Amino acid sequence: MRYVSTRGQAPSLGFCDVVLTGLARDGGLYVPESWPQFTADEIHNFGNRPFQDTAFAVISKFVGDEITPEALRTMIKSAYAGFNHPSVAPLVELEPGHFVLELWHGPTLAFKDVAMQFLARVIDHVLSKRGERATIVGATSGDTGSAAIEAFRGRENTDIFILHPKGRTSEIQRRQMTTVRDDNVHNIAIEGSFDDCQAIVKALFNDHEFRDGAKLSGVNSINWGRIAAQVVYYFTAAVALGAPHRKVTFVVPTGNFGDIFAGYVAKQMGLPVEKLVIATNSNDILRRAVKFGRYEKRGVQQTVSPSMDIEVSSNFERLMFEVLDRDGEKTASLFASLGQSGGFAIPEHALEKINADFGSGMADESATRTIIADVLKQSKYLIDPHTAVAVAVARGYNFGHTPLITLSTAHPAKFPDTVADATGRHPELPPHLADLGTREERFTVLENDDRSVKQFIREKTRAWED
Ligand SMILES: *Cc1c(COP(=O)(O)O)cnc(C)c1O
Repeated sequence: MRYVSTRGQAPSLGFCDVVLTGLARDGGLYVPESWPQFTADEIHNFGNRPFQDTAFAVISKFVGDEITPEALRTMIKSAYAGFNHPSVAPLVELEPGHFVLELWHGPTLAFKDVAMQFLARVIDHVLSKRGERATIVGATSGDTGSAAIEAFRGRENTDIFILHPKGRTSEIQRRQMTTVRDDNVHNIAIEGSFDDCQAIVKALFNDHEFRDGAKLSGVNSINWGRIAAQVVYYFTAAVALGAPHRKVTFVVPTGNFGDIFAGYVAKQMGLPVEKLVIATNSNDILRRAVKFGRYEKRGVQQTVSPSMDIEVSSNFERLMFEVLDRDGEKTASLFASLGQSGGFAIPEHALEKINADFGSGMADESATRTIIADVLKQSKYLIDPHTAVAVAVARGYNFGHTPLITLSTAHPAKFPDTVADATGRHPELPPHLADLGTREERFTVLENDDRSVKQFIREKTRAWED
């Protein structure tokens, strides 16, 4: 299996290089050269097997022959051993014909664990085979940082440095990062905003001498390894409700378009999916794009579903590449105009294709709070604000007789203030995190300046060779 860049100017790579590289050198994103396929019989047979077996079948198709089947099986088994539900991603019926797919049974209580736990093991495995080390660097406003730290803690060949804006993440999110004690984990609190943190990370990657010296690697949502691992639960959930003989519709709380793009990939691989519904909060660039055919920045607002507060959904480029019939030059020119003029028009034939597979809807702040209270009252089920956005969109969507699966991306206890505010009930952390509030924190405060961060990383990372 080879991977090509969405901008058509970078060399094609195999799975291991794609996972270590992240962004392609021409600024594009890597996608498989062609979509691997499952027959209806193969999909049907996923129904009798544990999650890990379906994960192995799906992910093998993306790995090709670059990792032995034994090693891949071992990584998958250990990635999901820390989930506190035997089926990893269980379905719960919310109301007749409407199901919730719980993706938050991993260690940090958000769906990012599903992919990150796998990705960290793959990266460590590839580095160990090659006798190399790497430095993982990322900026976080919350979920990604904790999922990455939890996944990379204690790994032999990687050191991880996560920047967060000092005093500007929620208490739970900060503590999930700063109470991890492993020597290869480095939390950096920057005297600045989340955007400052991101700008510093960008500066590190753009300094090629530093980047090569520290062997920098990124694990943000454009990393193909994350998408590959997210394809799995679309298969397990659909099959549990009768696929491939019956179609299902998915409603996905969307930010960077990574999660829902994995659903699109499952469909390309043969899973019968009626529609993929993009659910956004009031940052609705994607909903406006698929509805009106213009992808246009407007500035980000802060909402109660912060993991979806984004202005540009990086994985949307992968979809544009597909619906432009894999024309890298055309894709590059559209995303260049996004950089220059803040938007682009989606060509009509491409928009038609998008609308054949995708629906969309938006839930504003008040709808989000209302639905949390409604769902608790009607179904005795507590949801977090991200899931609430999707449930609100699902309720307003006419899906006929097709079963509807809403993806639940975080445990309600991860966002206790909003949930308590909406329902009067304070969600409890699960037992493994019950003492989080009293654990000792460890982090380093650095100035809002890339030089101090570079110096810190250079001193601490084991990947640096003089
Ligand atoms: C990251 C995240 C999302 C958005 O997923 P994308 O892949 O970025 O679209 C939704 N909900 C939660 C809780 C998240 O952490």
